[in-house]
Amino acid sequence: MPEQNNTFLEEVSRRRTFAIISHPDAGKTTLTEKLLLYGGAIRLAGTVKARKAQKYATSDWMEIEKQRGISVTSSVLQFEYNGYCINILDTPGHQDFSEDTYRTLVAADSAVMVIDAAKGVEAQTKKLFKVCKMRGIPIFTFVNKLDRAGKDPFELMEEIEKVLGIQSYPINWPIGTDGNFKGVYNRKLAQIEVFGGGDHGRATVESTVGSTEDEIFKELLGDHLYGKLCDDIELLDMAGDEFDIKRVHNGELTPMFFGSAITNFGVEPFLNEFLEMTTLPMPRTTDAGDVYPDNENFSAFIFKIQANMNPAHRDRIAFMRICSGKFQKGMEVNHVQAGKMVKLAQPQQFLAQDRVIVDEAYPGDIIGIFDPGIFNLGDTLCQKPPYFKYQGIPVFPPEHFARVYSADTMKRKQFIKGVSQLSEEGTIQVFKQTDIGREELIIGVVGMLQLEVLEYRLKNEYGVDIRIQNLPYKFIRWADYKDSDISKLYISSDSMIARDKNEDLVVLFVYEWGIQRFVEGNKGIN
Ligand code: GDP
Repeated sequence: MPEQNNTFLEEVSRRRTFAIISHPDAGKTTLTEKLLLYGGAIRLAGTVKARKAQKYATSDWMEIEKQRGISVTSSVLQFEYNGYCINILDTPGHQDFSEDTYRTLVAADSAVMVIDAAKGVEAQTKKLFKVCKMRGIPIFTFVNKLDRAGKDPFELMEEIEKVLGIQSYPINWPIGTDGNFKGVYNRKLAQIEVFGGGDHGRATVESTVGSTEDEIFKELLGDHLYGKLCDDIELLDMAGDEFDIKRVHNGELTPMFFGSAITNFGVEPFLNEFLEMTTLPMPRTTDAGDVYPDNENFSAFIFKIQANMNPAHRDRIAFMRICSGKFQKGMEVNHVQAGKMVKLAQPQQFLAQDRVIVDEAYPGDIIGIFDPGIFNLGDTLCQKPPYFKYQGIPVFPPEHFARVYSADTMKRKQFIKGVSQLSEEGTIQVFKQTDIGREELIIGVVGMLQLEVLEYRLKNEYGVDIRIQNLPYKFIRWADYKDSDISKLYISSDSMIARDKNEDLVVLFVYEWGIQRFVEGNKGIN
């Protein structure tokens, strides 16, 4: 095998690409920051928070995130650790943006679910977990905030199994809880690790590692904690399920870790075991069968489009997940959906704290390229024939609808431009109502907060004030009705006809039973 090939395969096999999900405030940002700290990508903790603050400055519409204390968009970070090249995809915690989360998960090979030890499985954890489950990717659990009073670890295991319906297997087990968190026991290696130092979480922690038999641990932990640990280990071994990595990879068993992101206790043991257990870049489905990452034909799909990341440039970035082959700056590839060659001229990657231009990248990596408005979500890029298309990214049916107008009729052009760009990003879905003598825009969203984002971004990025009139509809169905004359259709007073961006007919309903009535009233239409 030629040498170049070897390095290519080595590069692929050291990639780990995962998303972090959590209910807001469980500690996702803190954990991300600590992973960067261990990767040496930042020297002192506190920088990611600073970056979070700085991001607001450079990307003004994120002001809305600050005001509400939520994260609206997903960002991407890459760093190196122990020979691994790690890509972390951050996801919005709020359920109103679960569609964005789903798109992000399509680009990830596994997910880490952060849980607050005191709160257990929270509402958003449940929703986000469901989205992960739909993707069928491995899910790892990091129980956070062990430095404080929290639920009993056995109780948390049970809660995960009951509420989320996934079996759990603790890989390590906390020693000392409720403000007395001393260390973890690694069940795989049958080793105790007791933490010390750590400079209140600003620097990486020192620890003493050894076998449970080591006398030193009785001394370090004291008789009570040591005794409790021995009892816990016995209980776990008796009651617990077998560990089966295949079931982990199928998303049927979640490996569980305990730690405290703020003090760094348990972060490194988690990272080491997680990286070993999680999947390498996975094959992806195309219309020509599965494509494996070791395939040398470069290919990627676009999973996120974001406009106006930098208000000074009003640029639009398309994020792609590389699935096969090696990426090189300036390469020409086929944009399969458009049937055109495009040059990938200014590829950017998001390292710990900066955007940088990338020269090369490998399967598992995420890069952003400048998009002059040609890409759509789900599009495939492919270097050499035979060209293929990755499975599209599904859109979620909207559950809230509103009529939206430009407050200033003189700004209609800007308004239309803004709305269509934000719909291309997947922020909103746009429909038109045409059966009322004029054309009116209907916006569909999965969560109401998306409408707020629309309003905010139109004002700040396009200078357009809008008026929003909420509509009572909750359900949408696509109707296979090709006739342009819709007057022949039976439409009840609590439903409405509109067209999507492809001019396909959609019907909006207030009540679910309205759907059945429509089908009965219009025989032959699906
Ligand atoms: P996110 O919303 O999930 O990104 O959560 P953040 O990382 O912003 O954390 C939310 C709050 O919890 C912040 O005030 C953190 O300082 C705090 N926090 C995060 N991790 C820990 C931890 O391990 N222990 C304690 N006591 N607090 C934590």
